[in-house]
Amino acid sequence: MQRYKVTCLKCKQSDIVLIEEDSHSIVNYGKAINTNFLAGRWRKDSQWGWECICGNDNRVSKIEASFLTELVQKGNAKSIEDIKASLKLDDKKQFTMIGVQ
Ligand SMILES: [Zn+2]
Repeated sequence: MQRYKVTCLKCKQSDIVLIEEDSHSIVNYGKAINTNFLAGRWRKDSQWGWECICGNDNRVSKIEASFLTELVQKGNAKSIEDIKASLKLDDKKQFTMIGVQ
């Protein structure tokens, strides 16, 4: 398992996220229920994507754009539109993810 400091570059909030790397699953958030993250996802382009409470969202990579409706489970039209808007941004300018001890 590895801890990462994930920072939203839109609202500047961050949290330390513990990740099980073999299964690409999130074990816990350092701030628990007070985390600024609504969701994280291991994407098809082998990068993590995040959704922040401020609306910043890069859970879907640009290469996955054509599969959006399948990918957004339980998503409504609004969330799909939000993700489409986020795809216009450069991924690297949305979140940073740095390994920490
Ligand atoms: Zn944010």
